[in-house]
Amino acid sequence: MKIFISVDMEGIWGLVSSSHVSHDSSEYNRTRRLMTQEANWAIEEAFNNGATEVVVNDSHSNMDNLLIEELDPRAQLISGGPKPLSMMEGIDDTFDGVIFVGYHTRAGTINGVFNHTYSGKSIANVTINGKRMGECGINAGVAGYFGVPILAISGDDLLAAQAKEEIGDLETIIVKKAISRYSAHNFSKETVRDLYRTRLAEAIRNRDKKPVLKYEGKISMDIEFNREVMAECAMLLPEAVRIDEKTIRIESEDYIKIFMMFRAALNLGGSIS
Ligand code: ZN
Repeated sequence: MKIFISVDMEGIWGLVSSSHVSHDSSEYNRTRRLMTQEANWAIEEAFNNGATEVVVNDSHSNMDNLLIEELDPRAQLISGGPKPLSMMEGIDDTFDGVIFVGYHTRAGTINGVFNHTYSGKSIANVTINGKRMGECGINAGVAGYFGVPILAISGDDLLAAQAKEEIGDLETIIVKKAISRYSAHNFSKETVRDLYRTRLAEAIRNRDKKPVLKYEGKISMDIEFNREVMAECAMLLPEAVRIDEKTIRIESEDYIKIFMMFRAALNLGGSIS
């Protein structure tokens, strides 16, 4: 059994303020260790429940946060960027399940800790076929393209509810209760470690019933930017159609193309200061 783990940082236990998640902060060497610790909890439970191979993809910012020397030695690590599938680099149809660790709510979620969707600077909202989607929903579509189910997700309580809404009936590991964008009530380490144990055992045992987010037919993604000029820059993408002042639309029957165009639009839109 092969398990794919995508690890972001904002939803990690104990992390609440911007200094916790940025490279140039004096806190960073401590917090990247907390990120590595939590990745290890997921890896350990994957192996405890029958995994024979675990691939971890570092999915935050420059994607070089996880400390390979402190990572469970049984796991493989995809590190650095850019990489074609970004937060989902490494996934393919040989995997049996995906676990999202340290994820956060989508842009515009009131009180969601670090809420944003791929780029806090540029993206206000993303919909797929009319449904609001954050990073977990967008990334689940990449796994779904390869027919791989999303088994579980960890992050704050609002993220857990949102993931069920965006993806379906996956297991949730709630490590903290959101209070505001930069504040949370962290549960005890013992409680969180135990949740990883019980929820991942459940998720892997029921993996055949876990949601596969596979799209049929034409897929339409609307990307609303924070500023009009960002949508103007994103219109350099030949496939983009302008919907309104701040929104562009991209369409395809191929989800990987949608994902690639989304990231191209993100880069173009984010290129303006
Ligand atoms: Zn992140």
